[in-house]
Amino acid sequence: MGEKGGITASEWTLAYDYFDPREEGLREALTSTGNGYFCTRGTFAWVEAGDVHYPGTYTHGGYNRETTIMAGVPVLNEDLVNLPNWLLLRFRIEGEEAVGMSNVELLSYRHEYDIRNAVLKRNLRIRDRVGRETTLETRRFVSMADMHQAAMEVVATAENWSGRVEVITALDGRVTNRGVARYRQLEGRHLNPVSPRTFGPEVIALKMGTRQSGIYVAEAARTRVYGEHGQLDVERTLYQMEDYMHQVLSFEVREKEPVHVEKMVAFYTSRDYAINEPLVNAGKAVSRYPTFAKALERHARAWDELWSVCDMRIPEDDRVQLLVRLHISHILQVCSPHTADLDAGVPARGLNGEAYRGHVFWDELFIYPFLNFRLPEITRELLMYRYRRLDEARAAAKEAGYRGAMYPWQSGSDGQEETQTLHLNPVSGKWEPDLTHSQRHVNAAIFYNIWRYYQATGDFEFLLDHGAEMMLEIARFWSSIAHFNPERDRYEIHGVMGPDEFHEKYPGSQEEGLRNNAYTNVMVAWVSEVALQVLDLLPERLRETLCESLELADDEVQTWEDMSEKMFVPLHGDGIISQFEGYEELEELDWEAYRKKYGNIQRLDRILKAEGDDPDRYKISKQADALMLFFLFPEEELQRLFERLGYPYVPDAARKNISYYEPRTSHGSTLSYVVHAAVLADLDPTRSWEMFMRALESDVGDIQGGTTQEGIHLGVMAGTLDLIQRCYAGSEIRDDILYFAPRLAGNLDGLSFPMRFRGTPLQITVEGDKLTVAMQDDGHGPPIKVGVGDEVREAKASERYTFVI
Ligand code: BGC
Repeated sequence: MGEKGGITASEWTLAYDYFDPREEGLREALTSTGNGYFCTRGTFAWVEAGDVHYPGTYTHGGYNRETTIMAGVPVLNEDLVNLPNWLLLRFRIEGEEAVGMSNVELLSYRHEYDIRNAVLKRNLRIRDRVGRETTLETRRFVSMADMHQAAMEVVATAENWSGRVEVITALDGRVTNRGVARYRQLEGRHLNPVSPRTFGPEVIALKMGTRQSGIYVAEAARTRVYGEHGQLDVERTLYQMEDYMHQVLSFEVREKEPVHVEKMVAFYTSRDYAINEPLVNAGKAVSRYPTFAKALERHARAWDELWSVCDMRIPEDDRVQLLVRLHISHILQVCSPHTADLDAGVPARGLNGEAYRGHVFWDELFIYPFLNFRLPEITRELLMYRYRRLDEARAAAKEAGYRGAMYPWQSGSDGQEETQTLHLNPVSGKWEPDLTHSQRHVNAAIFYNIWRYYQATGDFEFLLDHGAEMMLEIARFWSSIAHFNPERDRYEIHGVMGPDEFHEKYPGSQEEGLRNNAYTNVMVAWVSEVALQVLDLLPERLRETLCESLELADDEVQTWEDMSEKMFVPLHGDGIISQFEGYEELEELDWEAYRKKYGNIQRLDRILKAEGDDPDRYKISKQADALMLFFLFPEEELQRLFERLGYPYVPDAARKNISYYEPRTSHGSTLSYVVHAAVLADLDPTRSWEMFMRALESDVGDIQGGTTQEGIHLGVMAGTLDLIQRCYAGSEIRDDILYFAPRLAGNLDGLSFPMRFRGTPLQITVEGDKLTVAMQDDGHGPPIKVGVGDEVREAKASERYTFVI
């Protein structure tokens, strides 16, 4: 057991031993429960949305667009909709006001997330105004075994009284999106009532519809009460409105005799397969659900299966172990085998908050590596989200005057650009233009993701059927947004933003974007080269068909070849990659002065703008930008890329660049810690570990001061796991071989985790100076090759190989 910051925990338990209203929002996000289809915040069951509590339920693809008229200007936004609250369960003793935090004294409290079983527990002992003491032990989960099922249980014990109790069990469709304070001036109503109804005496159900996108959502709840000798025959009364429904169950309780209230819930939407319509199917399903205990058993078994392929063992460090598992569980809450059929992308902030409106960004880049080597069938389907939106990306490219496919910076329902045009600066209280949509680098990330998925799985079919088409269309977009500058004899890209969102344009310029973001340009050189390889990989007939249908001409392909050798990369100083052209001419910021004045300066952009200054003027970065190159490519690969481009690659390039950029980076996106930790893994393991720990602690400790309650940061969570497998265990695919070059930092000795490479499951353990690759007993799949340094082994089922490192 370890203790830190009010959190006590074992390796599988995140727990809070006291109630703190200021932290409740954060805890709700961290203790959410979900199954890759829908997810519900860890909110008390007896509350409605307010300043302290925020019940929220979200599902993949549950988007709706609404317009807000702001100062006479219509502003359109697409949001991931907060869906009806299925949690509501209130207790009333002897007809008095329902039990709530304001009318009872808390005698004891524990709020716990059982990571292994993805079960939320809250145990309270309360004393009401007349001195009645009651113990409430609650558990809840969203089933990993049955994607439509959620369940909660309250065991209530009257400690020093007997009397009549009423349980109010409700489904509440009156919810709105108001979880993010900055968005509250924007329209938050997304649901219209459709119909409440009952299914027999025990089941209440509610159907709502999104106001604009026409998605129907239905929930049905069956609530039962059990005593020591089985189900109690309770009196039931019903209350219904068009967007809310509840049932009151009344019964007698006796001192010290626990009663057991179970609420089983079915959740359906009109986007589901194999349904007639959501309400009928929710009602039908919930009537068939087993007891809570039986359902929990099945749910826990399904999680066991997932842990057997996803767990990472870190025996020497309880704290790291706990947080790594927390991160794994959150990834699986959003991306599980249930996600595969849903036409889902990965919302950057998961499915437990409303920040970034549930939009899909480039964060996939940080998330897929974990999935690729464990549950690649999920990555495949998540990539299909992009494939299905290829036409929208083509239309966007065309509209902007380009060829190919231009995927949006922020993607939602149908793949059009969802980046808002205005955002509220909470520091100044002013609405400011948002120019972040010019982050075209998301297109390089999508291309990169497809290629890495293919390398990890060897899924040639996916490449043939879908991947290649996306990749070629993306390469084509890049060749049309780039232009050739004959004076330099180089290709250039203007008017874009890199990952660093502090720089939207040149200081004082009216024109959006920057010239030649180095990260983007090098990625484009790489994209152009790999696009050629992809063409070569395709069987001749398919290549011809695809080229014909895309009307891909030889001279375009020739241009890719040219671009792979002639992209312009701005450099300055001794081997320093300029973040963008002209970066070196910007002013230095007095970081110390700002730190002194503001304390936390992660969001320097907001601070500077509120001061009437302009972040564009300074050599500052919100997050790793040029450094992304060292993160995404192994050193030799990057060197090769630079040399192909005809640029010198100085021997100490990574060290020089990180020494230059790190002090100029505010880490206003926690993704930045992941990238820095990776780049430092070789150079300075102690510092790398520090960065790793910051990333690891960032959500649980809410280091950005209030952002995690608006949704966990999925990219960072997955990024920490990728750091373990890719940077500290040093895994890398080269020439179809899975290599390891461990450089353990911190307390990682003894690290052990399963991986799947090209269909073959293996278990990796790094201990002392040895790395062991154990092929799983039930190993199937084709033989693969694994290697450390020059030693390469062809690995076969059930065998075990030990390499000295
Ligand atoms: C970061 C982006 C990221 C987005 C969503 C922003 O703060 O700057 O890189 O994609 O958050 O996580």
